[in-house]
Amino acid sequence: MIHQFNAIIVGSGGAGLYAALEASRGSRTAVLSKLYPIRSHTGAAQGGIGAALGNVEEDKPEWHAFDTIKGGDYLVDQQAAKILTEGAVQAVYDLENRGLPFNRTPEGRIDQRRFGGHTRNFGEAPVKRACYAADRTGHMILQTLYQQCIKNNVTFFDEFQVVDLIMDGDTCKGVVAVELATGDLHILAAKAVLFATGGFGRMFKVTSNAFANTGDGPAVCARRGIPLQDMEFYQFHPTGIMGLGILISEAVRGEGGILRNRDGQRFMEGYSPVLLDLAPRDIIARSMLTEVRSGKGIRGDRRIDDYLYLDATHLGKETLMKKLPDITSFCKTYLGVDPAEAPIPVLPTAHYAMGGIPTDIHGRVVRDGKGTVVNGLYAAGECACVSVHGANRLGTNSLVDLVVFGRRAGQHIGDYVKQADAPKVSEADADSGRAWIAHLTDGQSGPHGGRLMEEMQITMMERVGIYRTAGDMQSAVETIQSLRESYRAVRVQDTGKQFNTDLLEIIELGNLLDISLITAATALNRKESRGAHSREDFPQRDDEGWLKHSLTYLDGDAVRIDYRPVDISIWKPKPRTY
Ligand SMILES: Cc1cc2nc3c(=O)[nH]c(=O)nc-3n(C[C@H](O)[C@H](O)[C@H](O)COP(=O)(O)OP(=O)(O)OC[C@H]3O[C@@H](n4cnc5c(N)ncnc54)[C@H](O)[C@@H]3O)c2cc1C
Repeated sequence: MIHQFNAIIVGSGGAGLYAALEASRGSRTAVLSKLYPIRSHTGAAQGGIGAALGNVEEDKPEWHAFDTIKGGDYLVDQQAAKILTEGAVQAVYDLENRGLPFNRTPEGRIDQRRFGGHTRNFGEAPVKRACYAADRTGHMILQTLYQQCIKNNVTFFDEFQVVDLIMDGDTCKGVVAVELATGDLHILAAKAVLFATGGFGRMFKVTSNAFANTGDGPAVCARRGIPLQDMEFYQFHPTGIMGLGILISEAVRGEGGILRNRDGQRFMEGYSPVLLDLAPRDIIARSMLTEVRSGKGIRGDRRIDDYLYLDATHLGKETLMKKLPDITSFCKTYLGVDPAEAPIPVLPTAHYAMGGIPTDIHGRVVRDGKGTVVNGLYAAGECACVSVHGANRLGTNSLVDLVVFGRRAGQHIGDYVKQADAPKVSEADADSGRAWIAHLTDGQSGPHGGRLMEEMQITMMERVGIYRTAGDMQSAVETIQSLRESYRAVRVQDTGKQFNTDLLEIIELGNLLDISLITAATALNRKESRGAHSREDFPQRDDEGWLKHSLTYLDGDAVRIDYRPVDISIWKPKPRTY
């Protein structure tokens, strides 16, 4: 089945919906989502969206830009960060005007709270910058944008999973997708395609990410010759529920929560004397692991799965109920702990991909270090890398990224499709997708996908995690390569057509294996420590050798790495102290 649109948006999280809203103003736009739209992971975002409104304390977008660049350990493209933080203010008011129910100050303005790495006057002290709707900020953003899209007659293809990208030389022509309800393959042809498929935390064993976060967009692009940028930088959020990885928002520390070791000590005093528990996430996650390794975890057995406490008991029941109601109920449900009465057992959890599909500041995908644009192909949100998060993202900056760059990409698409020609596609464009699915469902027996998934997740968690060494990463690359080999023989048990979730999960596993290989190989290649990429064998940041973005190409089974310059046109890189 072939459908023709002007613009196709793949993904209905915050980035996809904002882009759709803009693109649909003057052109026929469709959104494809493998999930029912409001089940996208954006709906799980808890703590807030950062914008220098200055409603509670003095603040400026310039300070926000500086914090973003320093927080990203100077791998951030600085003009992009400026666009992000200036656009943030307008974006938040825009969301307010569209009906988003933010928490309010007593005077009726949008309330703001503290978050890690966000400071006043270039690092002096924490500042209240995160706008929030209790601890359901993402949920509110998603509901607001979805309603607006419905109002503006955006066409939705719900539960359609994209499996391939159609390219004609340097120009994108559309995508191939499986319809979950029928198993039919559809070709969606368009002058412009935007990927907004979100993150890929599911390559790790312990993660805050939803099951659907499997890196489909980046994997599909990589297999079609598009490089992925800065894939070695993967963020571990300091406070996941011990063992489960479910997120306990940084907003708990923003409201005054404190991390403690087995002696009850506020150990961040020793690692980050100015920002303490509100230092950037990479620093806190490493400090936690160092505490555990030195026997200061709660059990004191130095094992990697020992844990620490997040203490919110002093905040009081009323604040917890008013500002952190979901977190309170997660703790009660999953741990049997009431955070008003007892500390929360936490450990870092795999959380956010700084890297992804490389784009320029209009969301256009680029294919090389010179910034050559792929015609008609766009990316925004967590699956993209523009790059505003560099080597480590600050909390609340992802939601800003979605709305600012989702919107910019949507606007650019709106203009682009006016002058671009409609692509010519035929059923043959779905041949490779069709052949792949036929192979997976041919009824033969093969290794079990679940086992491969488990081994991949454990490998990535243990060997490409918070602290890294050449030996570990080399063995991770080899393991993932052999898992990819085994994957070729995997078959789905259920060969039916309708609602074949088995098939779609096996396709997702293939995507995660490709993304894991790229991540491990690129991490092995970068011989320095910067932001979330922390090597025990190369503990220093090396600006001379490594102040550059990685661009990783997947050539069949081989990985090839090239580079792209970093824009440091505003602030010169300095050592990072907090
Ligand atoms: C628990 C949690 C809490 C967070 N809290 C915050 C916070 O407080 N502040 C902050 O700034 N950030 C936060 N983040 C990060 C932030 O929420 C995400 O980075 C962001 O929501 C990603 O949005 P997105 O639009 O890029 O993708 P998502 O919201 O993940 O949406 C992806 C979309 O792509 C679709 N899709 C994927 N693959 C396919 C395919 N093959 N075919 C068709 N459709 C596909 C999915 O159906 C979905 O609609 C949090 C993240 C988590 C996990």
